[in-house]
Amino acid sequence: MERETSDFEKWLKETLKEVAPSSFSESLATVAHSLYRLFSARVRFAEMLGRRCSFIAGEVSDEPTCTLPDYIQLTENIILIVDAWGKLGNEEKEKLIKFLKEVVKWKRLQQEISDVASVEKILSGDEDSLLRCADFARRAYCGDAVHIRGIIEYSNICSRNCLYCGLRKDNKNLKRYTMTVEEILDTAAQGFDNGIRTFVLQSGENDSEPPEFLASVIKALKKNFDVAVTLSAGVKRAEAYRIWKEAGADRYLLKFETSSPSLFKRLCSGSVLQNRLSALESLRQLEYQIGSGSIIGLPNQTLSDVAQDIVFAKGLDLDMAAFGPFVPSPHTPFAKCHPGDVALSLRVIAVARLLLGDVHIAAASSLDALAPNGRQRALSCGANVIMANLTPESYSNLYGIYPRQNGSSSLKRITEIVSHLGYSIASDRGDSIKQFRRRKNGKVTQRS
Ligand code: SAM
Ligand code: SF4
Repeated sequence: MERETSDFEKWLKETLKEVAPSSFSESLATVAHSLYRLFSARVRFAEMLGRRCSFIAGEVSDEPTCTLPDYIQLTENIILIVDAWGKLGNEEKEKLIKFLKEVVKWKRLQQEISDVASVEKILSGDEDSLLRCADFARRAYCGDAVHIRGIIEYSNICSRNCLYCGLRKDNKNLKRYTMTVEEILDTAAQGFDNGIRTFVLQSGENDSEPPEFLASVIKALKKNFDVAVTLSAGVKRAEAYRIWKEAGADRYLLKFETSSPSLFKRLCSGSVLQNRLSALESLRQLEYQIGSGSIIGLPNQTLSDVAQDIVFAKGLDLDMAAFGPFVPSPHTPFAKCHPGDVALSLRVIAVARLLLGDVHIAAASSLDALAPNGRQRALSCGANVIMANLTPESYSNLYGIYPRQNGSSSLKRITEIVSHLGYSIASDRGDSIKQFRRRKNGKVTQRS
């Protein structure tokens, strides 16, 4: 009697999760072992070398080479040798072969990405297979549910002068605001009623705002709602980060913007990259879940700089990554510069998924500022997180980082984007995937 198809689907999902952290040959060994254990299906994987083939993984692991009995071609040179299909039905076999083809392509590509030069080479290509592999990898690491974070842009006051950003101190065309604690809580209440389980409190880097202000907001949010709180308020003293952590903050988003110290210095006048990196280190010590990333297509940035950004992000051992294109903003020194390239930004997201693995990756809002379906496309090539803007319109109109379309990030619109893709919306807080895995494996949550 054939098993329920759903059993097989369940097996596919479980196996996908199992192979996610493994190397190419380990993944194939895992699949082969699991197939044999559950379905008595004996399979081997081999690499074609002319008329002979070389064993990679499978149930007869002591054979260094093999001749060719029945085989199925998975890629140009990787084959599946089938000794016995066990209890698999025809439909299941078809699905299994499709699944294996995807695993092999993904793991092969992942193997190719190791250093800045290899990342740069992949970024400069235009094959769609990169985007498809990243989508497959996203399903393996994160499942099919998308996390919607609710962002509250609580203040646009900034003491810094980043050349690319509309909130910069010297932009005198912007009316400045800070929402009151009550306004923030009312906004959060509406978001919570609509299913939001992570609030992101974002602002300019305001040197005059005492840390106690945000601490009181965090405490009130944690008291009233069962939610995660992410902060994105720039570089602060470690003491402020400590006060906020003690108030209940869970995560911090601080992009390094570019991993090139010289480019950073030119872009963020008066500030140096090392300050951002030291701030990330303080946040890590305080056990925040950390998000970071860079801007793609900044003036004078090279493709090699972008490749370096992804490799650099890997070294930061992030819980969340965010890469988005540069959007020229009026009343800034870069107002007339070229915008970042959307296609390149999507490839960056895809490579980041392959290289960074089990992290949350945001479909950056700046994608939608440049292309109508930018964020939707990002969710199809590696991203699994999207932000809905909860900020009341009277304030969000003043949060002019760069020009954005009214309503393009409303919760309604974001829900439409996710539904259109056929994905479900996660109902949990969506905490760090790697911390969850480390806990499950019985390892300490702190990074070594
Ligand atoms: N002030 C905080 C900080 O700098 O981390 C948080 C707010 S800041 C507006 C959030 C992010 O907006 C920055 O990290 C930067 O990557 C992004 N950003 C600013 N101007 C941008 C632009 N013109 N195009 C794309 N992203 C931009
Ligand atoms: Fe201020 Fe952040 Fe904009 Fe820089 S990116 S000007 S720190 S709001």
